Amino acid sequence: MPSNRQAIVAAPAPERYVIAADGGAIEYEVVRSQKRRRTVEIRVDPPNRVMVHAPLRTSKGMLAAIVTRRAKWIARQIARHAAVATRAPRHYVTGERIRYLGNDLVLRSHIGAGHFGAGGSKKPSAQLRRDALEITLPPGLSAEACSEAASRAVESWYRERALAEISRRVKLWAERMDVRPAGVRVRDQKTRWGSCGPTGLLHFNWRLIMAPPVVVDYVVVHELAHIRHPHHRPAFWRCVERYVPDWQEQRRVLHREGPEYREV
Ligand SMILES: [Zn+2]
Repeated sequence: MPSNRQAIVAAPAPERYVIAADGGAIEYEVVRSQKRRRTVEIRVDPPNRVMVHAPLRTSKGMLAAIVTRRAKWIARQIARHAAVATRAPRHYVTGERIRYLGNDLVLRSHIGAGHFGAGGSKKPSAQLRRDALEITLPPGLSAEACSEAASRAVESWYRERALAEISRRVKLWAERMDVRPAGVRVRDQKTRWGSCGPTGLLHFNWRLIMAPPVVVDYVVVHELAHIRHPHHRPAFWRCVERYVPDWQEQRRVLHREGPEYREV
């Protein structure tokens, strides 16, 4: 019978270190694994737990150097977790704000009467009025059902606006860039802002409509440039740069603000 004794051996004490970096102290835990051959990966788990995944034999000094080099990035992750934690959950009620083309819209929700009559549509609706998004909800819903219905109305409004606004910009830029996209679709892409299929069909994440117009233009130009250059080699970036000279700045904004757009 095989012995189970090996399995009972206590796990090694976790390796924990503190180093001074970037004007503060960073405490981190090292998780070593046999499967990892070369790469060291740093993750920041909420709220502020810094985990360093490393191969078995990477020296402490090497790990400290890597953590020091990533100090600013680590601080940013911790700040981002803190910002998300303190944000109140959205209920889609009057007074809440949502993003639209880089601006804030205030939500105003009210219960509709007339147009929800017998045979009429029970669908909630959303309509833009200056800097407010007015949501009309069917009568007789609980508070919870109201916020769910309002959230659906906001999302379908976003999708509608995204398709209209992005299509308009695609048409404009395609003419300037002299390329012919096969069509534009918006969908829910968790990790991407846009993509260009082999036939020139462009897909965009509807959440992009929350971003400032210059950022939307960068993503549009990026995908259109893929019609000519289906890769990310220098020729592709030269093409993007010709139409959006400050594309690097727009990409940074997307990295910085993108996680917020995904929370809706
Ligand atoms: Zn690309």
